[in-house]
Amino acid sequence: MQPLSDHDKSRIDIRVIDEPTHGSAGVNLTAKVAVTNGSAVSLATTAPDPFHLSYFWVSQDGKSIEGVRTALPRTVAPNNTDQIVMSIQSPATPGCYTLRVTAVQEHVCWFFEPPLSAFRDIQISIGERRRESLRVAPAKLFRELIRRKTTERWRRWNRRYKTPSRVHCPICLYSGDVFKVHRAEDAFGGGCLLRFECSECGGIFGTEKMISLSKRQLAREYRELYWTYDEGDTTETELQTFHKLNPTKSGIYLNYGCGKWSKAIQILREKGFNIVGYDPTAGRAKATFVISSETQLRNMKFDGLMSHNLLEHLQDPVTTLQFMKSLLNDGGLMVHATPCYRYEYEYSRFHLFFFTGNSVNVMAYRAGLIVRDTEYPNIKIFTSA
Ligand SMILES: [Zn+2]
Repeated sequence: MQPLSDHDKSRIDIRVIDEPTHGSAGVNLTAKVAVTNGSAVSLATTAPDPFHLSYFWVSQDGKSIEGVRTALPRTVAPNNTDQIVMSIQSPATPGCYTLRVTAVQEHVCWFFEPPLSAFRDIQISIGERRRESLRVAPAKLFRELIRRKTTERWRRWNRRYKTPSRVHCPICLYSGDVFKVHRAEDAFGGGCLLRFECSECGGIFGTEKMISLSKRQLAREYRELYWTYDEGDTTETELQTFHKLNPTKSGIYLNYGCGKWSKAIQILREKGFNIVGYDPTAGRAKATFVISSETQLRNMKFDGLMSHNLLEHLQDPVTTLQFMKSLLNDGGLMVHATPCYRYEYEYSRFHLFFFTGNSVNVMAYRAGLIVRDTEYPNIKIFTSA
């Protein structure tokens, strides 16, 4: 076909009807695309300047990879729409990408280039290429099914997500648009993780989706996580955290968010310390020393309260710290351990807050607390202000 005039170019539209759902590296994907020709001439993949569907992959660091071409299987006459299945080759390297689906008239123009706007951007997280095995043990198969279900759900949610123009910091309540964005790839099937750095308190929070999930939805996320991944043993660092409370055998202590069962609590109780655990997700807890009812907890008071790798998981850390403070006797201490006093372990969507900058002090201040460092970078002491 002959080069399109500027007017005709602006009358071409591209719509994606069916997006790729599988995102492994180095594989062939397809997308179903509707091409609407509102111009006065027919579109065709013919010399001298053929019309093709194509795409770009744009990586997080802004590098773009030009895609392969898909020819029009038939001529698209003026005032007609045709649906075409286009071929897409996924990038060789796993990561978060924007897939820009568009069209090109060779030697003439790309249809995403301004002033044209015939393109569609799709956020896709490209994972490692899966090696398929024919014989998989049932437990492994179950895990695999849950993982796929999780990945699929997040792909759907991420597709719908629009980056907000204003964001609101849950730690210091600053609201504005001057936030630095941090991107990471979820190691647990959640796709691209978009977090914001507060320009006021310096804290990093997000994803917004995880922070705004209902209790029920969040419970499902954790359930599926524990079905598919094994937790590491954190007994040693839990014991270390406990001892920063300067505990005595006559005091009563709480391990907040201890899980359904805790080896650390058992060890400490055997040594004569009066410590119980609280975990609202424990349901019918596996141990008598684990409380799962908030009502029961509200009627108790403690000389010391610890948490281990908990703060970064809370949807509203300030409110939870206020609640924790209400459980303390006069002069009671709190010790909270987390690596997320820094921007670390960012590859988990379950980490909703990183207490960077001044955010740990702001958070404590809002909860009526003062923070003190210890010799361990992951452990901080909180006392009443
Ligand atoms: Zn803030």
